[in-house]
Amino acid sequence: MSEHPHYWYDPLKDCFNVTIESIMEADGHTFVKIRERVVKPSGGGQAGDHGFIQVNGDTFEFIDTVLIDDEPKLLMKKTPQKKGKSILVIDRAWRKAMMRNHTSEHLFVGIMKKKFPDIDLGKIWIDGYHGSIILNGNPLTIDEILDVESQVQRHITEAIPVQTKIVPSSEVDESVRAREGITSKHNTIRVVEVGNLDSSACAGIHVTNTSDIHVFKVVDIKYQNDGTHIEFITNQNAVNALFEVYNSALRRKNSYPFELQQLGAVLDKSKNQQEAHEMALQIIIQLMTEGPHKERLGDVDFWHEYLPGFDTNTMRNIMREIKTNTAAIILFLAPGEKTNLVLWTKNMPKDASHYIQDIVADLGGRGGGRKDSFTGGFTDVTNPLNLYQEIVDRVRSKIRIN
Ligand SMILES: [Zn+2]
Repeated sequence: MSEHPHYWYDPLKDCFNVTIESIMEADGHTFVKIRERVVKPSGGGQAGDHGFIQVNGDTFEFIDTVLIDDEPKLLMKKTPQKKGKSILVIDRAWRKAMMRNHTSEHLFVGIMKKKFPDIDLGKIWIDGYHGSIILNGNPLTIDEILDVESQVQRHITEAIPVQTKIVPSSEVDESVRAREGITSKHNTIRVVEVGNLDSSACAGIHVTNTSDIHVFKVVDIKYQNDGTHIEFITNQNAVNALFEVYNSALRRKNSYPFELQQLGAVLDKSKNQQEAHEMALQIIIQLMTEGPHKERLGDVDFWHEYLPGFDTNTMRNIMREIKTNTAAIILFLAPGEKTNLVLWTKNMPKDASHYIQDIVADLGGRGGGRKDSFTGGFTDVTNPLNLYQEIVDRVRSKIRIN
C-alpha cells in the first residue's frame, strides 16, 4: 500500500510528520521536496494541494504542488532554511473543495456520456474554486446541459458511495473512462466509481459519498470556436451564488414589479427595449442629419417614419402637432412585441382608411379608423423593417393611383 499516495485512502487527513529531502531554486521560485507521498500534485486536470510546513515553530506556506521530474514538489511562498523533520499541514478547505468539484465532474461527465455517447470531451480543469470542462464542438444545447445538471443534483441527494479500487491494467476495459495523465504504463490502475454513473481511471481526490457535494451548479456555458466551455461550482460556493442571483431579483420584485417566475420574460423585455432604444437613437440621428422621410407624390406630401420604442399614443400626439396646409399623408410604424402603425391624412379627398385598410388586412394585420386617422397593429412580426417598407411601397402606389 505504501507505494500509493496517502490521499488515495484517506483524503481528509491533513497533518503529517514529514521529512524535507531537498530545497531547490528554479525559475525564481523555491521548491521543497518531501519524502512522504502525502501531498497531491497538480495533474490530470486537477490543481495541486496548498498548505504549510512547520520547521522549529516557523511556518512556511506552499501555494501549489507540482510534478517536477515525476516527483511532487511544494511551491513555497517563503523558503525554509534547512532540511530534515517538519510538520506538513494541508489546506483542508482547498482540498475538500477540490474533492467536491472533482467528484461532481465525474458525475456530470459520466451522466452526460451515458445520455449523449457521441460527445467528445476536451480539457478539464478542477481547483478549489470551480471546475470547468470543454466539449469539443457544440454538441449540446443549453437545455440539454441544464438537464444533466439537474440529474447530477438528484444523484447528490441520493447519497451514492464513491468507491475506489486498484486493478491490474489488463482488467480495465473501454467502459472505464481514461483521464489525462493516466497511461497504461502502470501495471495497476486506480478506478474510481460513482455508483453505476461513472467509472474512471483517476489518480485524483474524491469525496466518499455524493452527498458530501451538497449542491452542484452550472454557472456558465460559452459556445466558442474551440468548443463548449462549461463552468460549475459546488457546495457553499454554489449556495452563495444562488442566493446572490435570487436576492438580486428579489430586491427588485416590488419596485419593478414582477413575479420571480417571470424573470426570464422581464430580461427578454429589457433586451427588446434596449434594442428598441438603440434603434430609436439611430432614427433620431438620421432625422437630425438627413431630415424626415418626406416625398412629394403629385400634389401630396407623403411622410413616413419607422419609430422603434414609440407607442401608438406618442405617435398620435406627434401627428396632432403637425401643421400643414398642403395635402399630406403621414405614416408612422413602431415595431415591438406588437407592431403598431398610425396613418393620418391632412386635406385629402378621402378618409385615412381608404389608403391603408386593405393593405393592413392583406399583410395579416388588423385596424380601423375614422375620417383622417387610422390605427392598425400586427402580432408575431419576424421582420418589422421589411413590413414597414412593404407598407410604404403599397401606400405610395395607392397615393399615385388616386
Ligand atoms: Zn477523479
